[in-house]
Amino acid sequence: MKKVILTRLSLLTAPGMRTDLLTSGMVVPDHVTVDDDGKVIVPVNVPQDYTGDLGAVQAMIEERLKGLQGVTKLLVVLTAERAAEPAPAAPEAPRLKKRPTDAPGRDMRPHAAAVPGIRAIIAVASGKGGVGKSTTAVNLALGLRSLGLRVGLLDADIYGPSMPRLLNITWRPEIDENDHVRPVEQYGIKVMSMGFLMEEDNPVIWRGPMVVTALMQMTREVDWGELDVLVLDMPPGTGDAQLTMAQQVPLAGAVIVSTPQDLALIDARKGLKMFKKVDVPIFGIVENMSTFICPHCGKPSDIFGHGGAEADARRLGVPFLGAIPLHMSIREMSDAGTPVVVSEPDSIYAQRYKEIALKVAARLFPEEDED
Ligand code: ADP
Repeated sequence: MKKVILTRLSLLTAPGMRTDLLTSGMVVPDHVTVDDDGKVIVPVNVPQDYTGDLGAVQAMIEERLKGLQGVTKLLVVLTAERAAEPAPAAPEAPRLKKRPTDAPGRDMRPHAAAVPGIRAIIAVASGKGGVGKSTTAVNLALGLRSLGLRVGLLDADIYGPSMPRLLNITWRPEIDENDHVRPVEQYGIKVMSMGFLMEEDNPVIWRGPMVVTALMQMTREVDWGELDVLVLDMPPGTGDAQLTMAQQVPLAGAVIVSTPQDLALIDARKGLKMFKKVDVPIFGIVENMSTFICPHCGKPSDIFGHGGAEADARRLGVPFLGAIPLHMSIREMSDAGTPVVVSEPDSIYAQRYKEIALKVAARLFPEEDED
């Protein structure tokens, strides 16, 4: 099917260009992906000096490919990112020394070029919303910081950016004289959030290309400085936006957050599958809200049936990173904008997050771990 798609694309010329989409380099054949379910993603490199109508380019491609036999879903992604540079020269994405043996051999990430200054980017993802993904991402980032690492946190949750609230950030990032955005600093980590770009109470409808462009800008055009780890808080779910993000950003690995019942159901598995599809190593599963600790008597109760996650993770062939109990203080601290890792660093909850951070760091920088 890919051949047919490429042939069709080779017959199209974007307005104002002299040659067809493939010859002009606006579509790189290797970057076009077709998965087993017939989902097709066509990334289009828009040259920086391109003045034509981008909507028309997108519509033209959609018109040509929609209705093709076997195409169930089509996503045409416009990437304005230094696309005029020849793609093959792009530097390698940061890789772990050892690749997982169960990962498919093909690297499907179209633009996953390394981001200068950032040693590794990790994604925190979940199969659905409300499982504590953002709470985990922020405490994991702070846990990594407590290990002495230089950490950035990018809140890419377009549907409900929560980092300004979780970190009590009421100001906006500054833009320097070179038009570079400086991330906000809070509790020793650098933070960027889609929330900084949105008005509160004014939901934005994101279309595929906008999501990718905004994410690329926040990853590459923000002045992160030197970072050891950038933690990417992904939007919940495993739809097109998430898949495209996973493809576009050079991810060193992914952490999946799940509640016990979510893991028993299949939402978390979808997350695992998505990252496997794009050849991103799964660092492991965090079981959130595992055990309920009564704030009055301190007694634990397993409302959702605790303990299954570890076994499930083993069965799924991924590491189990740890369990975070359901506890009032985690929610209260989150709501107050003072995550538990900074507000109660010696509590058992903070310890749990730090243990998870340690496992992630060991996976990211195994050579340093041996020292
Ligand atoms: P998601 O990012 O998956 O949508 P959030 O991190 O926003 O989820 O968490 C959803 C709600 O659950 C928030 O109110 C948060 O404070 C609360 N929460 C998350 N994890 C815990 C936990 N372990 N104990 C208590 N409350 C939690």
